[in-house]
Amino acid sequence: MGGLAGEPVDLLVVGGGINGAGIARDAAGRGLKVCLVEKDDLASHTSSWSSKLIHGGLRYLEYYEFRLVREALIEREVLLRAAPHIISPLTFVLPHGPGMRPAWMLRLGLFLYDHLGGRELLPVSTRIDLSSTPEGTPLKSAYKTGFTYSDGWVDDSRLVALNARDAADRGAAILTRTCCKAARRENGHWVAVLEGADGGRREIRARGLVNAAGPWVQTFLDDNIKKTARHRVRLVKGSHIVVPRLFEHDRPYILQNDDKRIVFAIPYYERFTLIGTTDVPFEGDPGEVRISRDEIDYLCRAVNRYFEKQTTPEDIVWSFAGVRPLYDDASGNPSAVTRDYVFDLDTEEDGAPLLSIFGGKITTYRKLAEHALERLTPVLKIGKGPWTAKASLPGGDIADADFGCFLEQTRRSWPWVPAELITRLAHAYGTRIDRVLGEATDMASLGEPVAPGLYEAELDYLVREEWARTAEDVLWRRSKLGLFLDAPSQARVHEWFAVKAPDTTRAAEKT
Ligand SMILES: Cc1cc2nc3c(=O)[nH]c(=O)nc-3n(C[C@H](O)[C@H](O)[C@H](O)COP(=O)(O)OP(=O)(O)OC[C@H]3O[C@@H](n4cnc5c(N)ncnc54)[C@H](O)[C@@H]3O)c2cc1C
Repeated sequence: MGGLAGEPVDLLVVGGGINGAGIARDAAGRGLKVCLVEKDDLASHTSSWSSKLIHGGLRYLEYYEFRLVREALIEREVLLRAAPHIISPLTFVLPHGPGMRPAWMLRLGLFLYDHLGGRELLPVSTRIDLSSTPEGTPLKSAYKTGFTYSDGWVDDSRLVALNARDAADRGAAILTRTCCKAARRENGHWVAVLEGADGGRREIRARGLVNAAGPWVQTFLDDNIKKTARHRVRLVKGSHIVVPRLFEHDRPYILQNDDKRIVFAIPYYERFTLIGTTDVPFEGDPGEVRISRDEIDYLCRAVNRYFEKQTTPEDIVWSFAGVRPLYDDASGNPSAVTRDYVFDLDTEEDGAPLLSIFGGKITTYRKLAEHALERLTPVLKIGKGPWTAKASLPGGDIADADFGCFLEQTRRSWPWVPAELITRLAHAYGTRIDRVLGEATDMASLGEPVAPGLYEAELDYLVREEWARTAEDVLWRRSKLGLFLDAPSQARVHEWFAVKAPDTTRAAEKT
């Protein structure tokens, strides 16, 4: 297992989801020597299975989560500016009908939403006449009015990869397919046992340890390092279905279900609609979470109450399920469990700190990382302060965060790249697209077309710069090409890894 010399690192981060990657990035930018270990691929678990919203969380207002909502609302614009290639504004449509929360309550909620967290880029909420606007066309005629409000969309798994990339650019070691099996305190340091994909083990010393293991936060404490957790995690499953698109325009819907929960119907890669999510208490291995038939029926019923076009389980082209690692606040109702995050900082014994993260949202990961570093600063004597609020993520240094303008320029710079491909690459890599396309002057110089719209130049980049080790890493996390490529095309991506990157693939397959 390569990577680090024998010197101790300042911070060992366990977990390559959004929280671990965000903390590694922030710490590396403050000059700390950082090592992040992820037992699978980056974003292989909860951070790939979100609803992909950068949102304040309108419904959390009902639970009086004002701190969380305010922080998340502010973060929307911070993140839109940091990564406009993978994050974009969304205008939600909230149809209103009989039996729902009263209109005055919705107006009050939206007023708070507009004003709690400062807004510059995003438009204000409005009332909308659904009987005469395209947003009303796909809906049943009972829905005549509604509201609109703003939030954002994010490519969640790429957000993780970009945070890891930025951390690495600032000196962090990112070790994927590397499990932290155990850790003990010794002479003022943590000594952690790391196991690579080939089964090889090594020890690493660290001044501080961050447990960002998401759904495994508590088992990491109980089993891997034998510490009694002072907080408990509450695992709540949430599932989504993807169906051929239910409507022509690009605005998502927020739909109140008959159980008072809300379900989103979000445009997904032009051809599809993403529908979710559910809240189901979960026990068992978070690595083995699957959507159930009840959840499928629930989600179909939720959208069928609103749309003329009826959705059946046979329409589903893809589904996914994830486990929320929530802080257990003892709520009876899984929907009511707080979505805020809580830290457990343990500096017992000879002082090497252990910071465990409970809860959190994709939306608040940057602030969570900032707060985590704030907690660690006095213990680890960190000299530098917060820096990420105004920093771009890799590829996100786009003038005025104007992605449309950037896309136009990109098309002009590479006029020989087909429109669909250049749009996908511009979204995925932003200003780093030149590193993907390299010195290429025509399509032939991008190398072999391994699958429709996927060339060797991009695969080489993903292996070199983004830790891609298997076809799944590329098809489902660095991109969502898996949704578009047929089985033979996907098989060719598998073959490419077997032939072109055999060492990395073999090692990854052992995990
Ligand atoms: C259905 C659903 C919808 C959601 N929608 C949204 C949304 O729209 N917007 C939003 O802001 N948030 C949303 N969230 C919340 C958000 O997705 C999570 O809060 C966030 O992804 C959690 O990230 P994490 O880094 O804590 O966990 P994870 O992404 O699960 O990362 C933890 C990582 O730790 C690794 N790991 C564990 N143990 C070890 C070990 N011993 N050694 C090495 N690695 C280890 C795991 O393999 C895993 O990859 C949603 C969540 C769900 C489930």
